Amino acid sequence: MTRTALSALALVAAAPVLAQQAAHEHGVARLDVAVDAPRVELRLEGAGDGFVGFEHAAATDEEKAAVRRAQAAFIEADRLFAFVGAACKVDGNRVTLPENLRGDAAGHGAHGGGDHDRHDHDHDHDHDHDHDHDHGHADWLAELVFVCSGTPVAMDAAGLFRSFPGLREVRTQVVGEAGQTGGTLRAGAARIDLP
Ligand SMILES: [Zn+2]
Repeated sequence: MTRTALSALALVAAAPVLAQQAAHEHGVARLDVAVDAPRVELRLEGAGDGFVGFEHAAATDEEKAAVRRAQAAFIEADRLFAFVGAACKVDGNRVTLPENLRGDAAGHGAHGGGDHDRHDHDHDHDHDHDHDHDHGHADWLAELVFVCSGTPVAMDAAGLFRSFPGLREVRTQVVGEAGQTGGTLRAGAARIDLP
């Protein structure tokens, strides 16, 4: 028991580091939930494959639209996560796109097919030092804050799976006022109690 508890504590303490180094798995995301009523903070990180279905730089209009749709979904985060036992509203959100999508999302350049002077891809020679992904893989990060009317007792992420059908499972770790819990959420089993 003691050893398990200590390991769990060590895991929580190291969570930010682990999240950075966690394996890149398609269809899988990691979710850290911190309940400090009335605030609930969520940090969702996962392969872009699960959010938009691709991880290369968005090239076609369809791919660019998919990126915009995903960003919009995170901004309306109360459609992704529902809370039980308290009314919770989105109070902040930040979506960090993979580096190879940042230019596409920020500006809309109408690149014609014959425009050979422009680079369609970020090759990242000079600003990719702290990223350890293979070229061609890309992680998304969404940080969401809710403010609640009280202390929620459970969270339901069914909306997340509806919005992102490419997401198979979300490995979740919760730290609450009365302790911690964790589990793997799926489309048919998307609810987790909040300690
Ligand atoms: Zn990948």
